[in-house]
Amino acid sequence: MIVDLTRILQEPRRFQLTLHSDWWRADEKAAQIQGLDAPVEACIAISRAGEHYILEGSIRGGLQLRCDRCLDCFTLPMDARFRIALSCTAQDDAEEEVELLEEDMGVGFIEGEEVDLAEVVREQIYLYAPIKCLCREDCAGLCPGCGANLNQGPCGCAPRQMHPGFSVLRNFKLVKE
Ligand SMILES: [Zn+2]
Ligand SMILES: [Zn+2]
Repeated sequence: MIVDLTRILQEPRRFQLTLHSDWWRADEKAAQIQGLDAPVEACIAISRAGEHYILEGSIRGGLQLRCDRCLDCFTLPMDARFRIALSCTAQDDAEEEVELLEEDMGVGFIEGEEVDLAEVVREQIYLYAPIKCLCREDCAGLCPGCGANLNQGPCGCAPRQMHPGFSVLRNFKLVKE
């Protein structure tokens, strides 16, 4: 949804958008986000504040993430609020302006006087996904021997299974002189 910012005044204007699962495209930037589990509903209010536009909104939906440890997909419900400022000013001139904004507020730069709200939502989804994705805190991961998902029970490998988190230790060898 492209919004023409020249039509935004101090009074906030509200936009509602629903993004369906076929909208999300997996990319390398966030490979652990496999897709959407349910349509994402976003409600965004845009207002003008001097040289900036303030975007305030909420996003609800469900993300399908891939567990870093067992590679299974799981759903992370999303219920996020955000507040960002957009600046049309060239990046060099903008620094002074940005200082006037709240410190913890994210600032984005846009070219031209328009913004694609779907891209704003996409950025927020990237920010929402955890850096370390685990289907559950104690995910047992994959057997380093046969690759079986150990959350589904033990595999047929040797009984002494190492926790996958420690499998890297196997690469260390004790050197005896
Ligand atoms: Zn897992
Ligand atoms: Zn195994």
